[in-house]
Amino acid sequence: MLSPALLAWSSSLRVNPVEGNLTVDVHQLLDGQTCGPGIDSGLPSIRVPLQHITDGILDTDMIVYLTTSAINICTGNYLAAASYCSTDQYDRPTAALLHICIDETFFDIKHRQRNIMTLVHEIGHALGFNALKATLALPSEEILRFRNVRGVRVAEIVTPSVVQVVRNQFDCQLLTGAELESGEGSPLSVTGEGGCIGDHWERRLFSSDVMNPIVDEIEYSTRISTLTLAYFADSGWYQVDLSNANVASGWGRGAGCNFVNDTCINEFGDVPLQNAPFFCNDIVNDLIPGLTSAQQIHGCTPDLSRKARCSIGQYDLDLPSAYQYFNYAYGSHVGGSDTLMDFCPVYDGYDNGLCSSPESESVIKANDVERFGLRNILPFYRDTALCLSHRLCIRGPQSRVKVDEEWHICAEADQIIYSGSVTITCPDPRRIC
Ligand SMILES: [Zn+2]
Repeated sequence: MLSPALLAWSSSLRVNPVEGNLTVDVHQLLDGQTCGPGIDSGLPSIRVPLQHITDGILDTDMIVYLTTSAINICTGNYLAAASYCSTDQYDRPTAALLHICIDETFFDIKHRQRNIMTLVHEIGHALGFNALKATLALPSEEILRFRNVRGVRVAEIVTPSVVQVVRNQFDCQLLTGAELESGEGSPLSVTGEGGCIGDHWERRLFSSDVMNPIVDEIEYSTRISTLTLAYFADSGWYQVDLSNANVASGWGRGAGCNFVNDTCINEFGDVPLQNAPFFCNDIVNDLIPGLTSAQQIHGCTPDLSRKARCSIGQYDLDLPSAYQYFNYAYGSHVGGSDTLMDFCPVYDGYDNGLCSSPESESVIKANDVERFGLRNILPFYRDTALCLSHRLCIRGPQSRVKVDEEWHICAEADQIIYSGSVTITCPDPRRIC
C-alpha cells in the first residue's frame, strides 16, 4: 500500500537533490532524540538513529520513519498520522514520522483503496502540507490571510498558483485564496489576527481533494489535484509535474462565486440554484403510498456514480449560529450530518446504490428503463433517480443518454428530456466534461 502512495507523489514532485549526505538536525527534534511529538507525549514518536544525526545518509532527499501499532493503543479515531521533524535551510521537510494504526480489518481488500488514499494524505503532510508550521516558520500576508465569509472567519492560502487554481475551479476570478479547514484545530493568533488555521483544505469547498480533512470511502484517483500541487509549487521546495495531475474536481466546478461566498442553504431553508447539484434540504419522511422505496430516491452523488440520500438530520443541541440553515424551516438543531462540511446537507451515496454494479439492480431499481452493471451508467434524476446508459462529452459539452433503446441528446445543464413515461434532467456538462 505504501508503494502506490509514494508513487502518487514521486510522479508529481521533483526536489533539488541534497548534496552529500542528508542528516537529521538534532536541534529541531522536539525532545532532542525522537522524530514525532516526543517520547513523553504518549503519542507515537521514534528514536532517530545516531548515525542519521552524525553521518547522515547518502543519495537521500527525505527520510520517512514508519511506525505501526495495533488500533487499540492508538489514541483518537484515526487510521494514520504524519508530521515532519527536521527541515533543510529552506524549511523543506527532510525527515518525518508516518504512523499507521492497524486493526484486524486493515488488510481487507475492500479497505485497500481507502488505506492507500490515507497514506497519500499523510505523506502529503510529511512533504510539507502543514499550514500551521509553514506560517509559524514564515508568518507572511503573502502566504496566508484571514477573511470573513459565510458568517465565519477563515484562513486562506493566497500564493499565486493556488489563487489561480481556485479561481478556475469555481469560475470566479474574484476569489482571493484557497480556504483552510476552519472546523478543526485550535485558535491561533498570527500577525495579531485571531482565527483558526487547519492543516487541510476546507472540506465544504474541496471535499474530493486528498488533502481535505477526511478520506472518504469513495473512488479516489491517486493522482494529486492541481490545487494541492499548486501549494507545493508555491512553497518553492519542489518542481511540480502537472502532466500527472488529477482532472479538476467535479465538486463545485464552475459553480460560481456564490458557491464559495454564500451559505449552502439560504435563509428560507432552500438550496440556491447554483448549489442544487451539491447540497440538499429534503428530509425523508414516511414513504409515499403507492411508490416503492427505490422510487423515492431523488438524489445522485456529486460524482454521479450512485443514487444518494440527503444527509440531513437532527442534533441534540442547537448548531453553531452560522450553521443554522433551517431555523425557519425545521429548527435550529437540524443540519447536515457532516460537521466539517459546515453542517451543509449533501447527497450521500447508498452503499448498494452504485449504478455500475450489477448487484445494485435488485435493491435500487425504480423503473424498467434503468440499466445497471456497465461502466458507462450514471444516475439521472427528475423526482426519481434513474441509472441510465450514456455517452458523455461528445463534441464538446454534449452528452447522450439512452432511454428504452432510444438515444437523446443532452445539450445543456438542467435540460429536460421526455421519453415515454419518464422525464429526466441532464447533468451540467461543466462538471462532467
Ligand atoms: Zn491530515
